[in-house]
Amino acid sequence: MRPEILFPLFAPVSSLPGIGPKLARLIGKAAGERVIDLVFLAPTGFVDRSYRPTIATAEEGRLVTLDISVLAHQPPPRKGLPWRVACYDDSGPIDLVFFSARGDYVPKVLPVAARRRISGTLASYNGRKQIVHPDFIVDPAKGEDVPHFENVYPLTEGLGARVMAKAVRHALELVPELSEWQDASFLKQNGWSGWRTALAALHAPFVSEGAPAEIARRRLAFDELLANQLTLLLARERQRGLRGRRLSGDGRLRKALHDILPWALTKDQQTALAEIDADIASERRMTRLLQGDVGSGKTIVALMAMLSAVEAGAQAALMAPTEILARQHFATLSGYCQKIGVSIVLLTGRERGKAREEILGAMASGNTALVVGTHALFSEDVAFADLGLAVIDEQHRFGVSQRAALVRKGGEPVDTLAMTATPIPRTLELTLYGDMDVSRIRERPPGRQKIDTRAVPLARIAEMADAVQRALARGERIYWICPMVNETEDSDLAAVTARFEVLTRRFGNVVALAHGQMKGAERDAAMERFRSGDARILVATTVVEVGVDVPEATIIIIEHAERFGLSQLHQLRGRVGRGAQASHCILLYQDDPPLSDTARARLTVIRETDDGFRIAEEDLRLRGAGDVLGTRQSGDVPLRLARLETDRDLIEAARDDARLVLMRDPALQSARGQALRTLLYLFERDEAVRLLRTG
Ligand code: ADP
Ligand code: MG
Repeated sequence: MRPEILFPLFAPVSSLPGIGPKLARLIGKAAGERVIDLVFLAPTGFVDRSYRPTIATAEEGRLVTLDISVLAHQPPPRKGLPWRVACYDDSGPIDLVFFSARGDYVPKVLPVAARRRISGTLASYNGRKQIVHPDFIVDPAKGEDVPHFENVYPLTEGLGARVMAKAVRHALELVPELSEWQDASFLKQNGWSGWRTALAALHAPFVSEGAPAEIARRRLAFDELLANQLTLLLARERQRGLRGRRLSGDGRLRKALHDILPWALTKDQQTALAEIDADIASERRMTRLLQGDVGSGKTIVALMAMLSAVEAGAQAALMAPTEILARQHFATLSGYCQKIGVSIVLLTGRERGKAREEILGAMASGNTALVVGTHALFSEDVAFADLGLAVIDEQHRFGVSQRAALVRKGGEPVDTLAMTATPIPRTLELTLYGDMDVSRIRERPPGRQKIDTRAVPLARIAEMADAVQRALARGERIYWICPMVNETEDSDLAAVTARFEVLTRRFGNVVALAHGQMKGAERDAAMERFRSGDARILVATTVVEVGVDVPEATIIIIEHAERFGLSQLHQLRGRVGRGAQASHCILLYQDDPPLSDTARARLTVIRETDDGFRIAEEDLRLRGAGDVLGTRQSGDVPLRLARLETDRDLIEAARDDARLVLMRDPALQSARGQALRTLLYLFERDEAVRLLRTG
């Protein structure tokens, strides 16, 4: 039921005057393929052509707009020289200069004795004022003029600024008047104008220093965020409305597990588990995200939840993003499972042939209660007898579609529990995962010490090797991390290999090497040597980032720490401090050339705090949403005008507003509701509109 007046906005940009297929492609690359993409395209700045002096008073180097008369032409005396046009006004002379002008172009636009208005950057040559290639040459007698201001929009190679600005102008002409969807009192309170006025202001950044444009952007950003929040809440309501299944166990396996655990669950673990239990036991389908720092004890919470499913007669699966993590989870979980008599299998890409067939058989027949695996779990030939709960570890490393694929394996509605050790800043959580319920484990299991964290210039690397020597003498293990920003970067590979060789020369064969370009089996073998203690120093790239658990490791040295992101540093640091001994994290940074301000800020934050939730917020502030989420996922946040780093207040307000709207007007039937439907269309939440229609 898309309102017809909006149709022109959803037409391809080629529907605009003067935009053929070639330009449409370029605009598509720079901004988007449809007219609406241009309407919501905020200018990045503007060109000011309002300086209109006489020739004599015009200042060199400035952008000037002049009214001139044409005196005479001087075609190039020989090849390589420009075509010069002598012009004047009452105050003095000026030359207009054209290099490699084509045919009769110059005399045609500047006929002798004609008056013209021109605009360009004023220069001088041999003591004469001149403008090379004026940006504008117009004829005031024909009513033509030079605009006082020209907006600058994001461009791409081959796309001219003027063409783009014109396309946006044409797009704006198609914007209809719409009924207001925001509360009048709310608009007033913020000093915001109506939608169409705000759009006009967004595209007029030159009006009083840009402040009104920023106010307009915030108003439009609020529209966008409200659409985003309404969509997510609708999706969540819908999910919850879906029948899940009641999986209520009798507590027998859980009790058995409790009995063999050498420690009690922390309060946060208990709270998270209670929230999960309520979901599993209810008829609603669970879609819950469990956030907690590395080492906060998410795994045991997940296992408890899985046992509930098993008690109720169903199966449960845990999916990890990498082979090594899947194996590690399997090792941990099967240790517990053996003791309490629960069957469990492992399925990764490496299980092949007969072994794989047996595993698949056990899963399909229901002979195994639990399954741990990688994305191999959603291969074509995998079937479960009765999957009741899917746990997805490090869920941000799976795409939305992969998560969905595992859930579909259940056939029946499957409860899902996603886990992440990369806490998501609240603003991102709301805009990206607003359709999930969230549990948090903030407190760490007792007895963990703070990891002593220091930043040391790379010049002092020799001292680090001495510290490594002392730690080895105490029987401890050491991680030595080298950056591998790009897995195919040769220099990064050379650096990690060279470090391995240097350390091997000094410490002998207790050094192991693991990086992303090694074969999986080879890499796993290296990590296994380190885990077992056969190797005592592990030189590695970020392949050890997530989940690897070696309690004997007490020192982590991170070379070129300035090249790592905050969350990455935090994750890496979490590799140590997992045992009883005091642990250290050394951030070796290159200080020549000096650190950039953000790199310095990152190192300061990581030294000051070990609270993953705070680090996530700082990461967002320092790097921006795209970097925090990685490019793939930032595409999941379909926001054009809202800025996740700075519009927090708007995000919270939009969340509250969306809640109120849905509470008062579930199917958006009121007058405001109708207007909000339009808003949802505008921001292309087709999904939301579909939910409204069917819901
Ligand atoms: P995460 O998956 O959140 O990174 P893990 O589940 O791997 O953390 O837990 C880290 C370590 O802490 C494990 O060795 C685990 O056995 C231990 N652990 C978990 N919960 C507790 C607790 N309540 N008290 C003491 N140790 C715990
Ligand atoms: Mg874990």
